[in-house]
Amino acid sequence: MIIVMSKNATKQEIDNVERKLTDLGFKTHPITGEVKTVIGAIGDKRALNTVNISTMPGVESLVPIMKPFKLAGRELRHEPTVADIGGVRIGGPEITVIAGPCAIESEESFIETAKKVREAGASILRGGAFKPRSSPYSFQGLEEEGLKIMARAREATGMKIVTEVVDTRDVEMVASYVDMIQIGARNMQNFRLLHEVGLTSKPVLLKRGLAATIEEWLMAAEYIMAAGNEDIILCERGIRTYETSTRNTIDISAIPVIKELSHLPIIVDPSHAAGSWKYVGALSKGAIAAGADGLIIEVHIDPPNALSDGPQSLRPGKFAQLMDEFRPVAEAVGRSMGAR
Ligand code: PEP
Ligand code: MN
Repeated sequence: MIIVMSKNATKQEIDNVERKLTDLGFKTHPITGEVKTVIGAIGDKRALNTVNISTMPGVESLVPIMKPFKLAGRELRHEPTVADIGGVRIGGPEITVIAGPCAIESEESFIETAKKVREAGASILRGGAFKPRSSPYSFQGLEEEGLKIMARAREATGMKIVTEVVDTRDVEMVASYVDMIQIGARNMQNFRLLHEVGLTSKPVLLKRGLAATIEEWLMAAEYIMAAGNEDIILCERGIRTYETSTRNTIDISAIPVIKELSHLPIIVDPSHAAGSWKYVGALSKGAIAAGADGLIIEVHIDPPNALSDGPQSLRPGKFAQLMDEFRPVAEAVGRSMGAR
């Protein structure tokens, strides 16, 4: 429910309405606009059967929130959200690029990659420390040692760092190292994990599930937001279709649809969508042109010997070349790529 306060409502009247809603068991989200204040009330609306909020002093009207994603949707918060990852913004005029290897393999290779992607214009460094592999016999990641390497790479380059968490037991530990926590496609509907990252104060990069609808994806964001963490960045990474020429099928439509339904920023992962480095450039340009706020791209210094996702990883030189090619595409849609 959205409670629209009249433009002459006093602070006292707004506070009274908010207190009443809290007493009824609602979580309130006051939004102060230039002209009016609105209060989003999220909870069981049956509680309103006993009290008439609409007659309280200062209340102009009550508007139901029609969509199931109350906090992630545009009904309550119309203005786009700009996420702040330790000073790096996602969702503003600039296209933010996150880059790095699929997995952290060693300190030396990770820091070398970090320096190269930063030089090419990436501002956030990616790297998996806990790897959810399709096979239990594949490399599973360096775990906490990987997080320590990430933290040292942040120190060496000034980049912000993002890594995936796969287990509720590791959330606090991962949050203590990184600037942004990633929820992988395979865990998009792991509701306990979503709740747990919702209790942290770190921004969350929420990947779309392999076969998730846009509504299911926004409901996953809603889980995190309902736990108190509203800094979410959505990531389209390709979905399962009958097409086998690429690893997944990038859903470019998701970008304008999300922009219409939600105020949250959305970035695109062309690497996991394509499954081949050859298509990463084209998919990235398509994503920028369609309105994506950023990209997350896998880059490896020696793809043939990568411990995971080598075939889709760009070499640093190719990544730098593509970054230059993205610039005019970004400018054509009124965005910029940021300084090198
Ligand atoms: C990743 O980013 O390394 C990853 C495993 O991606 P996804 O969850 O999208 O498969
Ligand atoms: Mn990967």
